[in-house]
Amino acid sequence: MVVVLEQHATEQDVERIIKVLHDFGFDVHRSTGVNQTVLGAIGVKPDFDTRQLELLPGVAHVYRVTEPFKLASRSFKPENSVFDIKGVKIGGKEIVVMAGPCAVESEEQIFAIAEQVAKHGAKFLRGGGFKPRTSPYSFQGMGEEGLKLMRSAADKFGLLVITEVMDSNQIDLVEKYADVLQIGARNMQNFNFLKELGKSSKPVMLKRGLSATIEEWLMSAEYVLSGGNKQVILCERGIRTFETATRNTMDISAIPVIHAKSHLPIVADPSHGIGIRDKVIPMARAAVAAGADGIMVEVHNDPDHAKSDGAQSLFPDQFDELMKQIRIIAEAIGRNVS
Ligand code: PEP
Ligand code: MN
Repeated sequence: MVVVLEQHATEQDVERIIKVLHDFGFDVHRSTGVNQTVLGAIGVKPDFDTRQLELLPGVAHVYRVTEPFKLASRSFKPENSVFDIKGVKIGGKEIVVMAGPCAVESEEQIFAIAEQVAKHGAKFLRGGGFKPRTSPYSFQGMGEEGLKLMRSAADKFGLLVITEVMDSNQIDLVEKYADVLQIGARNMQNFNFLKELGKSSKPVMLKRGLSATIEEWLMSAEYVLSGGNKQVILCERGIRTFETATRNTMDISAIPVIHAKSHLPIVADPSHGIGIRDKVIPMARAAVAAGADGIMVEVHNDPDHAKSDGAQSLFPDQFDELMKQIRIIAEAIGRNVS
């Protein structure tokens, strides 16, 4: 931590600040320039609240130089993490595509969509059996019955399954059917739940909270990692901003920022990210260009009658087009899409 003192700070102020830092357990290095004194405080204190210093007379600015997350950080593990999920590698050269409906609605629906997305190159079938809906009166998902249908559709067409788990008491059940556990945006800071996910042997895909900063998101990943589960994938799914022209604002800039700060793979979800069907393909292109390790996208065989998120779900032909376009972009940056 670097403590920059005010130009008019007195020697008495400086000594008091140094004493406070020592009392908190920091080693202090003092540099005194012609006009200004700067203190370097050395020590790992993740709980230290910098406001405790900012309030002292003579302090101008306090800067943290280390990140509060450790296991998730690039400095802890310089090379990219690559997870091998039943032969599908995420975080490597290949960009993995996860596609399917927002929710499993019927046997006919999930089998029809699984067949289409597999044909066009998806590796994962996505879809929820348990849906986090804003209204308690909206369709809540088919539950375990939906997961069973999803698993058999995925197996039939050679896909893996990613599906949401909404609560600690659902983990055992969802693990029976899923290859990756999806944690919804609304649960990103459910810390007790994250601790339980730390004990799971399945990879976890942690969606970014609606108003979470990148640091908060990485701190949530840290909860899962520190519980012992090393397979954490991040998913940018759009954040809430003042803009109302789109459902969310897809934060493409989070992709290179995450790559700089963390070794964990990052998937982009342009469906929730922008929330408007005809703008999903350009956002998927942008996400691939920015370095996403995967794309998660909603596809429906009959989006006009979907029980949730129909307006942002692609028709199967549009999904085919998306795949064609992102293959070209991937190649341009030395990666590939199957
Ligand atoms: C979903 O993937 O359908 C979903 C509900 O996502 P999010 O948690 O990002 O809103
Ligand atoms: Mn959805």
